[in-house]
Amino acid sequence: TAMYEAKRAGRARWVLFDDSMHERVVRALEVEGDLRRALKEDELFVVYQPVVDLADRCLVGVEALVRWRHPQRGLVPPGEFIAIAEESGLIDALGAFVLETACRQFVQWQQRLGAAGPKQLAVNMSRAQLQRNGLVEDVRAVLQANGMTPAHLQLEVTESLAAQDERVQTTLRELKALGVRLALDDFGTGYSSLACLHQMPVDTVKVDRSFVKHAETVEYHRVLIEATIRVARTMGMTTVAEGIETEGQAELMRTLTCDRGQGYLFARPLEAAELERWAAAQAQHRPAALAA
Ligand code: C2E
Ligand code: MG
Ligand code: MG
Ligand code: MG
Repeated sequence: TAMYEAKRAGRARWVLFDDSMHERVVRALEVEGDLRRALKEDELFVVYQPVVDLADRCLVGVEALVRWRHPQRGLVPPGEFIAIAEESGLIDALGAFVLETACRQFVQWQQRLGAAGPKQLAVNMSRAQLQRNGLVEDVRAVLQANGMTPAHLQLEVTESLAAQDERVQTTLRELKALGVRLALDDFGTGYSSLACLHQMPVDTVKVDRSFVKHAETVEYHRVLIEATIRVARTMGMTTVAEGIETEGQAELMRTLTCDRGQGYLFARPLEAAELERWAAAQAQHRPAALAA
């Protein structure tokens, strides 16, 4: 064991680490340094996963997801660096990069794809971003710079985030006032309950993949999804099922009257050019739905 200075939430304190923690700390510092460089050297990019209408499978929106093309390690998933970006303060730069890139891309698609393109853009927001002063102004500026309609942007926040923090609540209300839409991400995994849903200023509820995964086999999961959808509908919210991988899951979620779906069954997260081809091809096969 060794002693390290652990800095968290601005407070420094001395704690004992065992060896595996030592490795984790060293690794986190490595990643942090790497990430700092990545932001400068354009190693980060954004992929877009289609969100479809479960009734007709037509494209309704896309979710922007960040990726890191590391010169040595290859493609690094966000699960391996978002938390480190948050703890090191790099999340602001990362978040701004994703928001700007995705909004610019979305407006370009509107011009190039018209009715075949996505009608909504979802961007993930982390706690640190929502707690910072000036986020609302930044969002307003990005929308204005790109001539993007605020209602076309949907910011995704997690349950625990939307529920607890006063500061976050205020920011969310300001974003709503701006006309931006809000979605509750990963619903079912946090600590709040269905009873809290009506207090949240969100337009959309995304049912977490872990519930969708077992919806066909675990009754409790299916019942929870059903209840979530009913409560959300009562509140006038749109529902999205995350992580749909099979026809069976898509069909069940549709039967449970979930509005939208997202998952590998429909499409994986795609690079911008691929998304454009996917959307164009899909529209060609569904001219009737487009005309409606
Ligand atoms: P999320 O917002 O819940 O995003 C959905 C995740 O599920 C994505 O993982 C997506 O690739 C994955 N996924 C979609 N369909 C399926 C499926 O059918 N099966 C399975 N197994 N997975 C599916 P990804 O891209 O690795 O992102 C993980 C998380 O990292 C995201 O979860 C989000 O919380 C966070 N994240 C990603 N990009 C950003 C970003 O730009 N900013 C922030 N703050 N967080 C981000
Ligand atoms: Mg999300
Ligand atoms: Mg999610
Ligand atoms: Mg999720």
